[in-house]
Amino acid sequence: MASVSYPYPMHAPVSQTLFDRAAVVTPGGVNSPVRAFRAVGGTPRFMVSGTGPYLTDADGREYVDLVCSWGPMILGHAHPEVIAAVQEAVARGTSFGTPGEGEVALAEEIVARIEPVEQVRLVSSGTEATMSAIRLARGFTGRAKVIKFAGCYHGHVDALLAAAGSGLATFGLPDTPGVTGAQAGDTIVLPYNDLEAVHEAFHAFPGEIACVITEASPGNMGVVPPLPGFNQGLKDACAKNGALFISDEVMTGFRTSRAGWFGVDGVKPDLMTFGKVMGGGFPAAAFGGRADVMAHLAPAGPVYQAGTLSGNPVATAAGLAQLRLLDDAAYEKVDAVSAEISGLVSEALTKEGVAHRLQTASNMFSVFFTGREVRNYDDAKAQESFRFNAFFHSMLSQGVYLPPSAFESWFVSTAHDAAAVERIAAALPAAARAAAGATEEGAK
Ligand code: PLP
Repeated sequence: MASVSYPYPMHAPVSQTLFDRAAVVTPGGVNSPVRAFRAVGGTPRFMVSGTGPYLTDADGREYVDLVCSWGPMILGHAHPEVIAAVQEAVARGTSFGTPGEGEVALAEEIVARIEPVEQVRLVSSGTEATMSAIRLARGFTGRAKVIKFAGCYHGHVDALLAAAGSGLATFGLPDTPGVTGAQAGDTIVLPYNDLEAVHEAFHAFPGEIACVITEASPGNMGVVPPLPGFNQGLKDACAKNGALFISDEVMTGFRTSRAGWFGVDGVKPDLMTFGKVMGGGFPAAAFGGRADVMAHLAPAGPVYQAGTLSGNPVATAAGLAQLRLLDDAAYEKVDAVSAEISGLVSEALTKEGVAHRLQTASNMFSVFFTGREVRNYDDAKAQESFRFNAFFHSMLSQGVYLPPSAFESWFVSTAHDAAAVERIAAALPAAARAAAGATEEGAK
Protein backbone atom coordinates (compact mmCIF):
# COMPACT_ATOMS: atom_id res chain seq x y z
CA MET A 1 0.00 0.00 0.00
CA ALA A 2 1.61 3.26 -1.10
CA SER A 3 0.17 5.90 1.20
CA VAL A 4 -0.41 4.40 4.62
CA SER A 5 -0.40 6.62 7.66
CA TYR A 6 -0.06 5.15 11.11
CA PRO A 7 -1.45 4.68 13.57
CA TYR A 8 -4.62 3.28 12.08
CA PRO A 9 -7.64 4.41 14.12
CA MET A 10 -8.82 1.95 16.76
CA HIS A 11 -12.22 1.97 15.15
CA ALA A 12 -12.55 -0.20 12.04
CA PRO A 13 -16.02 0.74 10.79
CA VAL A 14 -16.43 -1.72 7.93
CA SER A 15 -15.11 -4.65 9.96
CA GLN A 16 -17.40 -3.61 12.83
CA THR A 17 -20.43 -3.56 10.53
CA LEU A 18 -19.56 -7.02 9.23
CA PHE A 19 -19.00 -8.27 12.78
CA ASP A 20 -22.41 -6.93 13.82
CA ARG A 21 -24.02 -8.69 10.86
CA ALA A 22 -22.12 -11.89 11.63
CA ALA A 23 -23.18 -11.87 15.28
CA VAL A 24 -26.82 -12.12 14.19
CA VAL A 25 -26.34 -15.32 12.20
CA THR A 26 -23.26 -16.93 13.79
CA PRO A 27 -22.55 -17.49 17.51
CA GLY A 28 -20.12 -14.79 18.62
CA GLY A 29 -19.84 -13.63 15.01
CA VAL A 30 -17.06 -16.05 14.07
CA ASN A 31 -16.50 -19.59 12.88
CA SER A 32 -13.59 -20.30 15.22
CA PRO A 33 -13.46 -18.66 18.69
CA VAL A 34 -10.00 -17.06 18.71
CA ARG A 35 -10.95 -14.94 15.67
CA ALA A 36 -13.39 -12.93 17.79
CA PHE A 37 -10.55 -11.00 19.57
CA ARG A 38 -12.12 -11.74 22.96
CA ALA A 39 -8.73 -12.23 24.61
CA VAL A 40 -7.39 -8.88 23.42
CA GLY A 41 -10.63 -6.89 23.00
CA GLY A 42 -11.61 -4.68 20.08
CA THR A 43 -13.05 -5.36 16.65
CA PRO A 44 -11.80 -8.39 14.78
CA ARG A 45 -10.50 -7.39 11.37
CA PHE A 46 -12.39 -8.94 8.48
CA MET A 47 -9.81 -9.68 5.80
CA VAL A 48 -10.62 -9.39 2.13
CA SER A 49 -7.34 -10.32 0.44
CA GLY A 50 -3.78 -11.44 1.00
CA THR A 51 -0.62 -11.11 -1.05
CA GLY A 52 2.78 -12.38 0.05
CA PRO A 53 3.31 -11.28 3.69
CA TYR A 54 0.39 -8.82 3.66
CA LEU A 55 -3.31 -8.95 4.46
CA THR A 56 -5.81 -6.23 3.56
CA ASP A 57 -8.92 -5.74 5.66
CA ALA A 58 -12.40 -4.57 4.77
CA ASP A 59 -11.49 -1.00 5.78
CA GLY A 60 -8.70 -1.02 3.20
CA ARG A 61 -5.90 -1.23 5.79
CA GLU A 62 -2.86 -3.33 5.12
CA TYR A 63 -1.06 -5.48 7.68
CA VAL A 64 2.12 -7.55 7.78
CA ASP A 65 0.68 -10.92 8.68
CA LEU A 66 2.37 -12.83 11.51
CA VAL A 67 -0.41 -15.40 11.78
CA CYS A 68 -0.27 -16.89 8.28
CA SER A 69 -3.72 -18.47 8.74
CA TRP A 70 -2.37 -20.11 11.94
CA GLY A 71 0.44 -21.80 10.07
CA PRO A 72 -0.61 -22.99 6.62
CA MET A 73 0.55 -20.01 4.53
CA ILE A 74 4.26 -20.78 4.72
CA LEU A 75 4.82 -19.41 1.20
CA GLY A 76 2.83 -16.26 1.96
CA HIS A 77 -0.59 -15.43 0.57
CA ALA A 78 -1.67 -16.12 -3.02
CA HIS A 79 1.60 -17.67 -4.10
CA PRO A 80 1.36 -17.65 -7.91
CA GLU A 81 2.31 -21.32 -8.36
CA VAL A 82 -0.16 -22.51 -5.73
CA ILE A 83 -2.90 -20.36 -7.23
CA ALA A 84 -2.11 -21.73 -10.71
CA ALA A 85 -2.32 -25.31 -9.44
CA VAL A 86 -5.67 -24.57 -7.81
CA GLN A 87 -7.04 -22.92 -10.95
CA GLU A 88 -5.94 -25.84 -13.05
CA ALA A 89 -7.53 -28.34 -10.66
CA VAL A 90 -10.76 -26.42 -10.11
CA ALA A 91 -11.34 -26.15 -13.85
CA ARG A 92 -11.53 -29.95 -13.98
CA GLY A 93 -14.21 -30.13 -11.29
CA THR A 94 -14.33 -29.68 -7.54
CA SER A 95 -15.19 -33.11 -6.11
CA PHE A 96 -15.78 -36.56 -7.54
CA GLY A 97 -16.21 -38.85 -4.53
CA THR A 98 -13.89 -41.34 -6.24
CA PRO A 99 -10.16 -41.97 -5.93
CA GLY A 100 -7.98 -39.57 -7.94
CA GLU A 101 -4.34 -39.21 -8.86
CA GLY A 102 -3.83 -35.99 -6.86
CA GLU A 103 -4.41 -37.75 -3.56
CA VAL A 104 -1.98 -40.51 -4.48
CA ALA A 105 0.67 -37.92 -5.36
CA LEU A 106 0.10 -36.03 -2.09
CA ALA A 107 0.30 -39.24 -0.07
CA GLU A 108 3.52 -40.18 -1.91
CA GLU A 109 5.01 -36.76 -1.12
CA ILE A 110 4.19 -37.16 2.59
CA VAL A 111 5.58 -40.70 2.73
CA ALA A 112 8.75 -39.60 0.89
CA ARG A 113 9.37 -36.74 3.32
CA ILE A 114 8.59 -38.37 6.64
CA GLU A 115 10.27 -41.67 7.30
CA PRO A 116 7.98 -43.00 10.05
CA VAL A 117 4.98 -42.60 7.73
CA GLU A 118 4.71 -45.80 5.69
CA GLN A 119 1.03 -45.28 4.90
CA VAL A 120 -1.20 -42.26 5.20
CA ARG A 121 -4.95 -41.53 5.09
CA LEU A 122 -6.15 -38.10 3.96
CA VAL A 123 -8.89 -36.24 5.85
CA SER A 124 -10.17 -32.66 5.85
CA SER A 125 -9.11 -31.15 9.18
CA GLY A 126 -6.53 -31.59 11.90
CA THR A 127 -9.34 -32.45 14.30
CA GLU A 128 -10.39 -35.34 12.09
CA ALA A 129 -6.80 -36.51 11.87
CA THR A 130 -6.25 -36.70 15.64
CA MET A 131 -9.72 -38.14 16.28
CA SER A 132 -9.09 -40.88 13.71
CA ALA A 133 -5.57 -41.60 14.98
CA ILE A 134 -6.92 -42.09 18.52
CA ARG A 135 -9.67 -44.40 17.26
CA LEU A 136 -7.11 -46.40 15.30
CA ALA A 137 -4.80 -46.62 18.34
CA ARG A 138 -7.69 -47.88 20.44
CA GLY A 139 -8.76 -50.33 17.76
CA PHE A 140 -5.21 -51.60 17.27
CA THR A 141 -4.39 -52.07 20.94
CA GLY A 142 -7.86 -53.03 22.18
CA ARG A 143 -7.35 -50.52 25.03
CA ALA A 144 -9.35 -47.43 26.00
CA LYS A 145 -7.20 -44.90 27.84
CA VAL A 146 -5.35 -42.01 26.24
CA ILE A 147 -2.64 -39.85 27.76
CA LYS A 148 -2.54 -36.21 26.68
CA PHE A 149 -0.77 -33.17 28.09
CA ALA A 150 -2.25 -30.03 29.61
CA GLY A 151 -1.89 -27.13 27.19
CA CYS A 152 -1.56 -29.38 24.13
CA TYR A 153 -4.41 -28.83 21.70
CA HIS A 154 -5.36 -31.53 19.23
CA GLY A 155 -8.48 -30.01 17.73
CA HIS A 156 -11.94 -30.13 19.23
CA VAL A 157 -12.11 -33.91 19.63
CA ASP A 158 -14.46 -34.60 22.57
CA ALA A 159 -12.09 -36.89 24.41
CA LEU A 160 -9.20 -34.45 24.01
CA LEU A 161 -10.96 -31.31 25.22
CA ALA A 162 -9.58 -31.68 28.68
CA ALA A 163 -7.25 -28.92 29.93
CA ALA A 164 -6.65 -28.03 26.29
CA GLY A 165 -4.70 -24.98 25.16
CA SER A 166 -5.49 -22.65 22.27
CA GLY A 167 -8.97 -21.09 22.43
CA LEU A 168 -9.69 -22.73 25.73
CA ALA A 169 -6.51 -21.36 27.26
CA THR A 170 -7.57 -17.98 26.02
CA PHE A 171 -10.92 -18.26 27.73
CA GLY A 172 -9.49 -19.87 30.80
CA LEU A 173 -12.03 -22.69 30.66
CA PRO A 174 -10.79 -25.90 32.20
CA ASP A 175 -13.15 -27.97 30.09
CA THR A 176 -16.22 -27.47 27.92
CA PRO A 177 -19.90 -28.24 28.48
CA GLY A 178 -21.12 -30.79 25.98
CA VAL A 179 -18.32 -33.25 26.60
CA THR A 180 -19.66 -35.99 28.83
CA GLY A 181 -17.82 -37.63 31.67
CA ALA A 182 -17.81 -40.83 29.64
CA GLN A 183 -16.17 -39.15 26.65
CA ALA A 184 -13.41 -37.56 28.73
CA GLY A 185 -13.24 -40.32 31.33
CA ASP A 186 -10.64 -42.34 29.47
CA THR A 187 -8.39 -39.32 28.98
CA ILE A 188 -5.49 -38.92 31.39
CA VAL A 189 -4.21 -35.33 31.39
CA LEU A 190 -0.63 -34.87 32.56
CA PRO A 191 1.66 -31.85 32.88
CA TYR A 192 3.76 -31.26 29.78
CA ASN A 193 7.49 -32.05 29.90
CA ASP A 194 7.00 -34.32 32.93
CA LEU A 195 8.19 -37.85 32.12
CA GLU A 196 7.85 -38.96 35.71
CA ALA A 197 4.10 -38.32 35.51
CA VAL A 198 3.94 -40.48 32.37
CA HIS A 199 5.73 -43.37 34.08
CA GLU A 200 3.36 -43.08 37.04
CA ALA A 201 0.31 -43.19 34.75
CA PHE A 202 1.54 -46.34 33.01
CA HIS A 203 2.18 -47.83 36.45
CA ALA A 204 -1.31 -46.88 37.68
CA PHE A 205 -3.13 -48.28 34.63
CA PRO A 206 -1.24 -51.39 33.49
CA GLY A 207 -2.45 -52.74 30.14
CA GLU A 208 -5.10 -50.02 29.82
CA ILE A 209 -3.37 -47.19 27.95
CA ALA A 210 -3.84 -47.27 24.19
CA CYS A 211 -1.65 -44.31 23.32
CA VAL A 212 0.13 -41.16 24.32
CA ILE A 213 -0.68 -38.18 22.10
CA THR A 214 1.45 -35.07 22.22
CA GLU A 215 2.08 -32.03 20.06
CA ALA A 216 5.47 -32.80 18.52
CA SER A 217 6.55 -29.40 19.80
CA PRO A 218 3.62 -27.56 21.36
CA GLY A 219 2.47 -24.26 19.90
CA ASN A 220 -1.03 -24.04 21.35
CA MET A 221 -0.06 -22.68 24.77
CA GLY A 222 2.47 -20.48 23.04
CA VAL A 223 5.67 -22.15 21.91
CA VAL A 224 6.85 -24.62 24.56
CA PRO A 225 9.35 -27.01 23.02
CA PRO A 226 9.94 -30.46 24.48
CA LEU A 227 12.87 -30.64 26.89
CA PRO A 228 15.76 -32.74 25.58
CA GLY A 229 14.79 -36.41 25.78
CA PHE A 230 11.09 -35.81 26.45
CA ASN A 231 9.73 -37.12 23.14
CA GLN A 232 12.18 -40.04 23.18
CA GLY A 233 11.08 -40.80 26.74
CA LEU A 234 7.44 -40.87 25.61
CA LYS A 235 8.26 -43.21 22.79
CA ASP A 236 10.25 -45.54 25.07
CA ALA A 237 7.48 -45.56 27.71
CA CYS A 238 4.92 -46.44 25.03
CA ALA A 239 7.10 -49.20 23.55
CA LYS A 240 7.71 -50.69 27.00
CA ASN A 241 4.00 -50.71 27.87
CA GLY A 242 2.46 -51.84 24.57
CA ALA A 243 0.94 -48.42 23.80
CA LEU A 244 1.26 -46.34 20.63
CA PHE A 245 3.10 -43.04 20.50
CA ILE A 246 1.16 -40.45 18.47
CA SER A 247 2.97 -37.29 17.49
CA ASP A 248 0.58 -34.51 16.49
CA GLU A 249 2.35 -32.55 13.75
CA VAL A 250 -0.71 -30.64 12.53
CA MET A 251 1.10 -27.40 13.37
CA THR A 252 4.76 -28.40 13.05
CA GLY A 253 4.41 -30.75 10.07
CA PHE A 254 6.15 -29.44 6.91
CA ARG A 255 6.77 -26.19 8.81
CA THR A 256 9.54 -26.67 11.36
CA SER A 257 11.58 -28.49 8.69
CA ARG A 258 11.07 -30.45 5.46
CA ALA A 259 10.04 -33.37 7.66
CA GLY A 260 8.41 -31.28 10.38
CA TRP A 261 9.45 -31.78 14.01
CA PHE A 262 10.46 -35.35 13.21
CA GLY A 263 13.11 -33.77 10.99
CA VAL A 264 14.33 -31.82 14.03
CA ASP A 265 14.41 -34.42 16.82
CA GLY A 266 14.34 -37.69 14.86
CA VAL A 267 12.10 -39.49 17.37
CA LYS A 268 10.05 -42.05 15.45
CA PRO A 269 6.34 -42.13 16.39
CA ASP A 270 3.97 -45.01 15.66
CA LEU A 271 1.35 -42.62 14.28
CA MET A 272 1.51 -38.98 13.21
CA THR A 273 -1.08 -36.36 12.34
CA PHE A 274 -0.78 -33.49 9.85
CA GLY A 275 -2.81 -30.54 8.58
CA LYS A 276 -2.24 -26.82 7.96
CA VAL A 277 0.81 -26.54 5.60
CA MET A 278 -0.02 -29.75 3.70
CA GLY A 279 -3.31 -28.22 2.50
CA GLY A 280 -1.84 -25.04 1.01
CA GLY A 281 -4.67 -23.05 2.62
CA PHE A 282 -7.39 -25.58 1.80
CA PRO A 283 -9.00 -28.10 4.17
CA ALA A 284 -6.64 -31.06 3.84
CA ALA A 285 -5.12 -33.05 6.69
CA ALA A 286 -3.82 -36.56 7.26
CA PHE A 287 -2.80 -39.22 9.70
CA GLY A 288 -0.30 -41.96 9.02
CA GLY A 289 2.48 -44.11 10.38
CA ARG A 290 3.43 -47.75 10.73
CA ALA A 291 2.00 -49.87 7.92
CA ASP A 292 1.00 -52.68 10.32
CA VAL A 293 -1.06 -50.21 12.37
CA MET A 294 -2.56 -48.44 9.34
CA ALA A 295 -3.59 -51.85 7.97
CA HIS A 296 -6.25 -51.93 10.68
CA LEU A 297 -8.09 -49.09 8.96
CA ALA A 298 -11.19 -49.75 6.78
CA PRO A 299 -11.44 -51.09 4.13
CA ALA A 300 -8.13 -52.93 4.74
CA GLY A 301 -9.07 -53.60 8.36
CA PRO A 302 -11.92 -53.29 10.87
CA VAL A 303 -11.46 -49.72 12.25
CA TYR A 304 -13.96 -47.48 10.46
CA GLN A 305 -13.00 -44.08 9.11
CA ALA A 306 -14.30 -42.16 6.08
CA GLY A 307 -14.96 -38.73 4.52
CA THR A 308 -17.05 -37.36 1.63
CA LEU A 309 -14.45 -34.70 0.81
CA SER A 310 -11.32 -36.60 1.92
CA GLY A 311 -8.58 -36.22 -0.69
CA ASN A 312 -10.53 -33.44 -2.41
CA PRO A 313 -8.89 -32.72 -5.79
CA VAL A 314 -8.60 -28.94 -5.33
CA ALA A 315 -7.23 -29.23 -1.78
CA THR A 316 -4.72 -31.90 -2.77
CA ALA A 317 -3.56 -29.85 -5.77
CA ALA A 318 -2.96 -26.84 -3.51
CA GLY A 319 -1.16 -28.93 -0.89
CA LEU A 320 1.01 -30.70 -3.41
CA ALA A 321 1.98 -27.46 -5.15
CA GLN A 322 2.92 -25.92 -1.80
CA LEU A 323 4.94 -28.93 -0.61
CA ARG A 324 6.82 -29.14 -3.90
CA LEU A 325 7.90 -25.53 -3.50
CA LEU A 326 9.13 -26.17 0.04
CA ASP A 327 12.73 -27.16 -0.61
CA ASP A 328 15.72 -26.70 1.70
CA ALA A 329 16.21 -23.11 0.52
CA ALA A 330 12.61 -22.26 1.46
CA TYR A 331 13.07 -23.57 5.01
CA GLU A 332 16.37 -21.71 5.35
CA LYS A 333 14.55 -18.54 4.39
CA VAL A 334 11.68 -19.04 6.83
CA ASP A 335 14.10 -19.94 9.63
CA ALA A 336 16.20 -16.84 8.96
CA VAL A 337 13.30 -14.39 8.82
CA SER A 338 11.78 -15.94 11.93
CA ALA A 339 15.06 -15.49 13.82
CA GLU A 340 15.32 -11.91 12.59
CA ILE A 341 11.78 -10.91 13.58
CA SER A 342 11.78 -12.68 16.93
CA GLY A 343 15.16 -11.11 17.71
CA LEU A 344 13.79 -7.65 16.94
CA VAL A 345 10.78 -8.22 19.20
CA SER A 346 12.94 -9.35 22.08
CA GLU A 347 15.35 -6.45 21.58
CA ALA A 348 12.54 -3.88 21.65
CA LEU A 349 11.01 -5.35 24.82
CA THR A 350 14.39 -5.53 26.53
CA LYS A 351 15.01 -1.89 25.70
CA GLU A 352 11.81 -0.93 27.50
CA GLY A 353 12.60 -3.18 30.45
CA VAL A 354 9.65 -5.53 29.79
CA ALA A 355 10.20 -8.93 31.40
CA HIS A 356 9.62 -11.48 28.65
CA ARG A 357 10.68 -14.84 27.42
CA LEU A 358 11.15 -15.54 23.73
CA GLN A 359 10.61 -19.23 23.03
CA THR A 360 11.33 -20.82 19.67
CA ALA A 361 10.86 -24.14 17.94
CA SER A 362 12.75 -23.79 14.68
CA ASN A 363 10.78 -21.11 12.79
CA MET A 364 7.82 -21.05 15.22
CA PHE A 365 8.13 -18.61 18.10
CA SER A 366 6.15 -16.78 20.72
CA VAL A 367 6.77 -14.20 23.39
CA PHE A 368 5.66 -14.84 26.96
CA PHE A 369 5.38 -11.83 29.23
CA THR A 370 7.18 -13.41 32.14
CA GLY A 371 10.78 -13.52 33.29
CA ARG A 372 10.75 -17.31 33.75
CA GLU A 373 11.26 -20.18 31.36
CA VAL A 374 7.96 -21.67 30.23
CA ARG A 375 8.03 -25.46 30.34
CA ASN A 376 4.35 -26.28 30.68
CA TYR A 377 0.85 -24.87 30.70
CA ASP A 378 0.97 -23.63 34.31
CA ASP A 379 4.10 -21.63 33.49
CA ALA A 380 2.40 -20.22 30.38
CA LYS A 381 -0.67 -19.15 32.36
CA ALA A 382 1.52 -17.34 34.89
CA GLN A 383 2.52 -14.68 32.32
CA GLU A 384 1.24 -11.09 32.39
CA SER A 385 -1.00 -11.42 29.36
CA PHE A 386 -2.40 -7.89 29.85
CA ARG A 387 0.97 -6.67 28.56
CA PHE A 388 0.53 -8.74 25.42
CA ASN A 389 -2.86 -7.16 24.83
CA ALA A 390 -1.42 -3.64 24.88
CA PHE A 391 1.44 -4.79 22.65
CA PHE A 392 -1.00 -6.45 20.23
CA HIS A 393 -3.16 -3.35 19.77
CA SER A 394 -0.18 -1.09 19.25
CA MET A 395 1.17 -3.43 16.56
CA LEU A 396 -2.28 -3.68 14.96
CA SER A 397 -2.62 0.09 14.78
CA GLN A 398 0.76 0.21 13.04
CA GLY A 399 -0.14 -2.38 10.42
CA VAL A 400 1.18 -5.59 11.96
CA TYR A 401 -1.24 -8.45 12.53
CA LEU A 402 -0.29 -10.70 15.47
CA PRO A 403 -2.19 -13.70 16.82
CA PRO A 404 -4.96 -12.15 18.95
CA SER A 405 -3.95 -14.07 22.07
CA ALA A 406 -0.86 -14.40 24.25
CA PHE A 407 -1.16 -18.20 24.06
CA GLU A 408 -0.34 -18.72 20.39
CA SER A 409 2.64 -19.27 18.16
CA TRP A 410 3.54 -16.57 15.64
CA PHE A 411 4.11 -17.67 12.07
CA VAL A 412 6.19 -16.26 9.20
CA SER A 413 6.64 -17.23 5.57
CA THR A 414 9.13 -17.20 2.70
CA ALA A 415 7.35 -14.03 1.53
CA HIS A 416 8.35 -12.00 4.61
CA ASP A 417 10.94 -9.84 2.90
CA ALA A 418 13.03 -6.86 4.00
CA ALA A 419 10.13 -4.41 3.55
CA ALA A 420 7.86 -6.50 5.77
CA VAL A 421 10.57 -6.83 8.42
CA GLU A 422 11.20 -3.10 8.24
CA ARG A 423 7.56 -2.36 8.95
CA ILE A 424 7.61 -4.67 11.96
CA ALA A 425 10.83 -3.10 13.22
CA ALA A 426 9.33 0.37 12.90
CA ALA A 427 6.26 -0.64 14.91
CA LEU A 428 8.10 -2.35 17.75
CA PRO A 429 9.36 0.58 19.88
CA ALA A 430 5.87 2.00 20.44
CA ALA A 431 4.42 -1.47 21.04
CA ALA A 432 7.14 -2.26 23.58
CA ARG A 433 6.41 1.04 25.34
CA ALA A 434 2.71 0.13 25.39
CA ALA A 435 3.56 -3.24 26.94
CA ALA A 436 5.80 -1.58 29.52
CA GLY A 437 3.09 0.88 30.52
CA ALA A 438 0.23 -1.65 30.57
CA THR A 439 -1.55 -2.44 33.82
CA GLU A 440 -3.85 -5.28 34.71
CA GLU A 441 -6.54 -2.75 35.60
CA GLY A 442 -6.18 -1.03 32.24
CA ALA A 443 -6.81 -4.30 30.43
CA LYS A 444 -10.22 -4.80 32.06
N1 PLP B 1 -3.54 -30.41 16.33
C1 PLP B 1 -2.81 -29.30 16.47
C2 PLP B 1 -1.42 -29.42 17.05
C3 PLP B 1 -3.30 -28.05 16.09
O1 PLP B 1 -2.54 -26.96 16.26
C4 PLP B 1 -4.62 -27.99 15.57
C5 PLP B 1 -5.19 -26.68 15.19
O2 PLP B 1 -4.70 -25.63 15.50
C6 PLP B 1 -5.35 -29.15 15.43
C7 PLP B 1 -4.78 -30.36 15.81
C8 PLP B 1 -6.73 -29.13 14.86
O3 PLP B 1 -6.68 -28.82 13.50
P1 PLP B 1 -7.96 -28.19 12.77
O4 PLP B 1 -8.12 -26.82 13.30
O5 PLP B 1 -7.59 -28.24 11.32
O6 PLP B 1 -9.11 -29.09 13.08
